[in-house]
Amino acid sequence: MISTETIADKKYDLKSLSKPQLTQLCGELGLKKFRSDQIFQWLYQKGATSFEEMTNLSKDLRERLSSVAFIRSLQLHQKQTSRDGTTKYLYTLFDGNRVEAVLIPEFFPDGVADRLTVCVSSQVGCVFGCSFCATGKMGFFRNLTPGEIVDQITTINKDAFERFGKKITNIVYMGRGEPLHNFQSVMHSTDILTDPLGMDLSPKRITVSTVGLTKQIMQIADENRQFNLAISLHAASDEKRDKIMPINDSLDLNALKESLQHYHQKTDKPVTFEYLLFDGFNDTAEDARNLAAITRWLPSKVNIIMYNNVMGVELQRAREERLDAFLRHLSKERVRATVRRSRGDDIDAGCGQLAIRENQPRGKTIAKN
Ligand code: SF4
Repeated sequence: MISTETIADKKYDLKSLSKPQLTQLCGELGLKKFRSDQIFQWLYQKGATSFEEMTNLSKDLRERLSSVAFIRSLQLHQKQTSRDGTTKYLYTLFDGNRVEAVLIPEFFPDGVADRLTVCVSSQVGCVFGCSFCATGKMGFFRNLTPGEIVDQITTINKDAFERFGKKITNIVYMGRGEPLHNFQSVMHSTDILTDPLGMDLSPKRITVSTVGLTKQIMQIADENRQFNLAISLHAASDEKRDKIMPINDSLDLNALKESLQHYHQKTDKPVTFEYLLFDGFNDTAEDARNLAAITRWLPSKVNIIMYNNVMGVELQRAREERLDAFLRHLSKERVRATVRRSRGDDIDAGCGQLAIRENQPRGKTIAKN
């Protein structure tokens, strides 16, 4: 809950609070619950960026609120649209840090927009240092607040509506950062997105991905969270996973298996295994057999993702013939996989490519080099 300091001691960043925390703050100000609902709605449904916009609150109340709290919003720094319609949004945060989000539109054959997916960032940089990932090379700087996560989505939603005449349909937490390493803020943000007074999205439309933080997977299970869970697997043996994902050193495939079986037991939900296919590294018949064995841990799907090469990374996107062979091996194992071709490669918006190109110091990382 919010700090025990009296509210006179500090000003609150409203969008860093969960809904219960906002209700608590309003309670401390002597406001009824419906007032905190109104404020919540202004922030997340109507996109208010100041108290002045909250016209169903009296002037007096707005002034009181602005004496104890403030509203911070992301500033759009740059927007780039790819040949395939994918758009990358680069935001500046209040402290000068930057994050990116991506809108990935899919179209019906007649050109009308079908699915509009937003890939959202949850941290500035990332500590986990996966060898293929541009964000991992930045190191970790800080977690985003729930408001900084939700703002990426609400601003893109507005843009999507102007461009395609419809709201975004899906959200994936697969941008910069490891979502479960910023557990509280990510959970609060999904609560806001699914709240009828927030974006009112079905949790089925939200996918949170993780490299396999087992304690947090267990917690998601115990809280019976209804969003979808995706595991960034990318290698199907400890030996190969160790080489590209330093997290596997401390949380290996056995630990992952245990947490996922617990997850399925508690939620009865399947998971998706995301598998970036790298040429000559994880695309052999043996890799396919290992991957098939992992899919039998619990009901699951496999997404094979065609990697967009990242400058300075040795691993390369698998050639088409290797992809075809890998799919044949999987099929022999009775595993059906969906192939996802990375989008927006001409604007560096593809999987693993999100990172600032400007020179900047490196943050914390668990990678050895
Ligand atoms: S793949 Fe995910 S966990 Fe790994 S370095 Fe990149 S952002 Fe971090």
